[in-house]
Amino acid sequence: MSIRITFHGAARMVTGSKHLLEVNGRRVLLDCGMFQGEGRESDAKNRHFGFDPRRIDAVVLSHAHIDHSGLLPRLVKEGFQGPIFATPATRDLCAIMLEDSARIQEGDHARDLRHAREGEHVLDPLYAVEDIAPMLGRFIDVPYGREHEAVPGVRFTYTDAGHILGSAAVNLVVDDGERARRILFTADVGRYVDRLLPEPAAVPQADIIITESTYGDRDHPKQAEADEELLRQVLHTCVEKKGKLIIPAFSVGRTQEVLYVLNRLSNAGALPRIPVFVDSPLAVDATRVSRDHSDLFAPELQVELEKDPDLFDFPGVEFVQNVERSKQLNERQQPCIIISASGMMEAGRVRHHLVHSLGNPRNTVLAVGFCAPGTLGDEIISGADMVHIFGEPVRVRAEVARLEFYSAHADRHELMRFLEGQDPRQVDRVFLVHGAPRAMAGLHTLLEQRGFRHVEEPPQGRTYDL
Ligand SMILES: [Zn+2]
Repeated sequence: MSIRITFHGAARMVTGSKHLLEVNGRRVLLDCGMFQGEGRESDAKNRHFGFDPRRIDAVVLSHAHIDHSGLLPRLVKEGFQGPIFATPATRDLCAIMLEDSARIQEGDHARDLRHAREGEHVLDPLYAVEDIAPMLGRFIDVPYGREHEAVPGVRFTYTDAGHILGSAAVNLVVDDGERARRILFTADVGRYVDRLLPEPAAVPQADIIITESTYGDRDHPKQAEADEELLRQVLHTCVEKKGKLIIPAFSVGRTQEVLYVLNRLSNAGALPRIPVFVDSPLAVDATRVSRDHSDLFAPELQVELEKDPDLFDFPGVEFVQNVERSKQLNERQQPCIIISASGMMEAGRVRHHLVHSLGNPRNTVLAVGFCAPGTLGDEIISGADMVHIFGEPVRVRAEVARLEFYSAHADRHELMRFLEGQDPRQVDRVFLVHGAPRAMAGLHTLLEQRGFRHVEEPPQGRTYDL
């Protein structure tokens, strides 16, 4: 009889979340995330799971972000035949996000083939659009709060993690016939601030905790969410200057938050009468999925929903799907707001809008999210006079503004608050995952101060007997 866990990703780093739980020879995979941001190294790790997909009995998925779900199509393609458990909103988001991921990979692959030197070997995409349907066929809906059996000996209950739509902490009870162990897998923890989503729900006592540590060494700055006053000013100047307002935003999450704020302004009669275009196919789909699951929004929003059943739709908003319409917007001279992906301005249609808008001082670019150092977004926010887009130099004459929105990740005090209900004397072991070494070290110290014993930072591929 035995219970074991092996950390196959998000080990001393923030991507590739993948933890293999083995109970009496049955194998349950917690998350199946993609490694990102390390170029060739990520690619090699994404091609070799470190276990045989055919011998996995079930997947329990925490949420739809690609670093947690991104290799599911490949797992199925390589012979996984079991169920994939997820909340209904996570399933719906996976359907659109993983198809988008497949399209991006196919596009990159086609470009690599065009640019390859003679005889050069170009690797296939990790998966293609045709691999999405077989994967979706394996999904089984498990709503929050309902206990479910993953395999004999492993039961679990999802609780709302408040991180993205449908996100869950996984509360497992694992029984090898000799004793039962309660395991909490926090996955990604959300915020205790006013957002579209509720605060993370309380979780039951655990014997073993596997916790994320993304911001384990930091607190988020105190801020009022999406300072409406600043947004009103930006809108006002934009209309006065008869310019365009370009808002680069991530399709899933941030775009809906921006739409919600604009909708609120519209309801208050404070939105200028200019058209608003949501120009990203994924954002259009993600907004539909969010609307379908508006019962998951924070309690205060439920009150608003009674008066306004669609918090993302208001007079003047148009959701743009096709490329031709998107191109028309490039040429458009009249004032308008264009919300387009990606948030860091590195990919997606927003680059075309920037090429057409940056050179004109009448226009404004409003950054609403984190832009990693070295990205186009970071250059523009930092005040560069000249940037390169599609290899061409583009002068920056447009006004550049920033509006802070809340991060989707708990900071160190919020992580501690999430674990507040846990009696450290009952917890045998804490595994830190999903964090850079410095962040882990910060949370490690805090946990020990709170009385948690045996805090570990498992390296990639290490197995532990529980
Ligand atoms: Zn996440």
